[in-house]
Amino acid sequence: MERVRVRYAPSPTGHLHIGGARTALFNYLFAKHHGGDFIFRLEDTDVARNIEGGEASQLKNLEWLGIIPDESPLKPVEKYAPYRQMERLDIYKKYIDILLEKGYAYKCFCTPEELEEEHERQVASGVAPMYNRKCANLTAQQVKANEDAGMPYTIRVRVPENKVYEFEDMIRSKVSFESKDIGDWVIQKANGIPTYNFAVVIDDHTMEITHVFRGEEHLSNTPKQIMIFEMLGWEAPKYGHMTLIVNENRKKLSKRDETIMQFVSQYKEEGYLPDAMFNFMALLGWSPEGEQEIFTKDELIAAFDENRLSKSPSMFDKEKLIWVNNRYIKERSLGEVVALCQPFLEEAYDLSDKSQEWIEMLVSVYHDQLSYGKEIVKLTSLFFNDDLQLDDEAREFMQDESIPNTLDVFSNQIAAIEDFNRENVQAAIKATQKEAKVKGKMLFMPLRIATTGIMHGPDLASSIVLIGKEKVLDRLK
Ligand code: GLU
Repeated sequence: MERVRVRYAPSPTGHLHIGGARTALFNYLFAKHHGGDFIFRLEDTDVARNIEGGEASQLKNLEWLGIIPDESPLKPVEKYAPYRQMERLDIYKKYIDILLEKGYAYKCFCTPEELEEEHERQVASGVAPMYNRKCANLTAQQVKANEDAGMPYTIRVRVPENKVYEFEDMIRSKVSFESKDIGDWVIQKANGIPTYNFAVVIDDHTMEITHVFRGEEHLSNTPKQIMIFEMLGWEAPKYGHMTLIVNENRKKLSKRDETIMQFVSQYKEEGYLPDAMFNFMALLGWSPEGEQEIFTKDELIAAFDENRLSKSPSMFDKEKLIWVNNRYIKERSLGEVVALCQPFLEEAYDLSDKSQEWIEMLVSVYHDQLSYGKEIVKLTSLFFNDDLQLDDEAREFMQDESIPNTLDVFSNQIAAIEDFNRENVQAAIKATQKEAKVKGKMLFMPLRIATTGIMHGPDLASSIVLIGKEKVLDRLK
């Protein structure tokens, strides 16, 4: 097989979206599985929609996920460069000229107003709107006269009649389109810049792209692209159109959807781990054989098989992401989890009177249950809140007549501790059990409610140490 070369070709019109990241990820996995190249190319011809820093932001977020391009505008290979479409205009011009010369394309002088009117007329009379070919057969003299008069023009491709464009999609099998449903479409806009469907063909050919995995919204673009490949006598890459990502209501994940964070940077900001995201996204529309769900990047590369890309929409399951991320956090060392959590704690709380040791202990108490970094703020709030508000259930529990004595005994035990650490607090709890003659729930619950204000929480002895001797004694009183 020839060397596999695939590409991710975003427009720098926004930051890295979950859908784009998944496209990049599957292309990357496919390339690496076959020992090939993953190329990052920029489709920046829609100049008005480009945003400042769009390219850098895309690259930075991909890198965070561990999707590192072999080639990009910052890592060019001379043979294929440049990697930004706006720097390739002279390459496109060369091929536009060939199409014009061969009569596969023509200049169209229709004004936007004329086109709009024609469009409305067609819609009103119930026919599918399509360019009426008014300029398809202008004579060379007419064209020259229009140009001399300074009339702006677009360039349209002359779509062949009665042709069927058929291709074997790597995900959907046979797909076909009839040329009669495709109007003569614009390959170069009036401003001289080529359109996506044209430029992408020139890029895919000149960059020797062998396979294209992209979203299903591009399916109807494919016959247009194949048409240009044929006109230029080139072989098209193999295409695979991935199904949609949907939300929990089975609605297409759109940028306006507020039920799901849409951008990769948001997950980074909330303290998700990049390798967990990589793992989770690889299962968005692809599944390996068997039941395993946690995979390292290398395992995913080894297992990736395009025949197992899903033919039905894949649901973005937030609970599953949280589960996957928690699994990765559990595997991290305490030091790493502290590094992940500390910035969130610093932002939310005043830590000026806390030692690093205290912060480490605080995080360690939640290490196993933590779903994502920022969650630490919510989980630990009880350690930063001095105002204990017992709920009805806790209040009711504390009415039991054995409780004052239990708290008294425990209070004395605590007061006697010199080195206030977990071991000694644990011993104080044990001693209270013996002396007050209470055990199980009647031992732990009063101590927990009196010291933390809640009935269920993290390890009791650690919680007590974190609250601190003085405050614990205060609360017991
Ligand atoms: N710029 C296109 C997009 O962002 C890429 C289309 C393609 O992969 O051909 O959707």
